[in-house]
Amino acid sequence: MPSAGPRSFRSAQAFLVRSADAGETDRRVTFFTRTDGLVSLMAKAAHRSRKRFGGGLQKYFLLDVSWTEAPGRMPVLESIALLESFWEIVTDWERVRHADHLLELAAALFPQPGPKPKAFDVLLAGIRSLASGDPPPVPARKSEAALLAVAGWGPNFSACRRCGLPIGDISTSPRGRGVRFVPSEGGVLCGNCPGGEGTRLSLGAVKTWSALQASSPGVLARVRISDIILEELQLVIPKYLEYCLGRPLRSLGGSSASENP
Ligand SMILES: [Zn+2]
Repeated sequence: MPSAGPRSFRSAQAFLVRSADAGETDRRVTFFTRTDGLVSLMAKAAHRSRKRFGGGLQKYFLLDVSWTEAPGRMPVLESIALLESFWEIVTDWERVRHADHLLELAAALFPQPGPKPKAFDVLLAGIRSLASGDPPPVPARKSEAALLAVAGWGPNFSACRRCGLPIGDISTSPRGRGVRFVPSEGGVLCGNCPGGEGTRLSLGAVKTWSALQASSPGVLARVRISDIILEELQLVIPKYLEYCLGRPLRSLGGSSASENP
């Protein structure tokens, strides 16, 4: 019997990623948490009584979530407390779209259970930036680059992935001009190396993308991205994400073109 097993009580800082009806009164809710990664919980009687969870079962809130686990059954949500609201996001459709994108991304890049403090901090910084009114593509590209790096996807910008010519030498070598980013290489190719595939990147864009791999929220906040470099990164980072995930990103509509100002 489920009740015979030992029950354990857990709590974590969390963002609601998605929720869906489960039967007439319950909801199945999925959170991205700092200490446990992606967690799916049963929210009992979530419909019957909004008081039960204080109306806090919403996205764009930093929550403190408590739940109980018992062997052989789905963990049960016990309580939620609001730590910080980013409700300003819902005032603007572009902010909503990009916030949903970051939530989907964190869940997709980090599906394994276990502590995810770095990814969580990047997500929190991105959501906070969106709520504060920063132009949505800026926190989006920053968070994407940082999350990719935390997840181990790089890319590696130290040298040409084929011939090993250091990135610093590519710009000065006469034949090395024209760095191309190639998703399947996880990095850039120099002009000497064959293959017409890939997207041309300026050295400035490569340097900016490298800086964003630091993934510290403090560094991310300080990195300035010019409009020109933002446009370049717009063309490669979401595409690389889709390559890494092996599927299109639903939350951005699968089209980077719609993001151009
Ligand atoms: Zn090369």
